[in-house]
Amino acid sequence: MDPSSFQELESPNNAGDSSSGGSAPSRYESQKRRDWNTFGQYLRNHRPPLSLSRCSGAHVLEFLRYLDQFGKTKVHTPVCPFFGHPNPPAPCPCPLRQAWGSLDALVGRLRAAYEENGGMPETNPFGAKAVRLYLREVRDLQSKARGVSYEKKKRKRPPQAAAAGAPMDQQEPTSSCEG
Ligand SMILES: [Zn+2]
Repeated sequence: MDPSSFQELESPNNAGDSSSGGSAPSRYESQKRRDWNTFGQYLRNHRPPLSLSRCSGAHVLEFLRYLDQFGKTKVHTPVCPFFGHPNPPAPCPCPLRQAWGSLDALVGRLRAAYEENGGMPETNPFGAKAVRLYLREVRDLQSKARGVSYEKKKRKRPPQAAAAGAPMDQQEPTSSCEG
């Protein structure tokens, strides 16, 4: 199969379409279609042959590991002197992998595509617990190896704000819930 479609996985902003917006499908939609086609190709090339209906979370993990060979994210091994360095000053022989964020987004797109193509949510292999656990494992591993935190920024409100007198920008009480 042609793996070229995955070489761009980690740089979603370099797509060559100059006309943004308009009637063209969104970048997400076209990326999703592309991912879905590549996964279908992966299944067709699978040995032993594998049909979508028999695809399990274990096969999704197999697919994700297969994609690592096209990755561009350096993931240092614990014995590497740059382990935990987000910007190493010199090259090292550690392997390149798919970044966690790329895999996470990919699984999300394929999960949606699976159901759009007639798959049942209950049997969606991209929503399997094993896949979730694997992604979490990759995230933890890569955040340690690269010294990069993947946790979303939490908005912490200083607890003493209310006690420190009336703040200038007083918040309006919202009448509706945010969902
Ligand atoms: Zn290294």
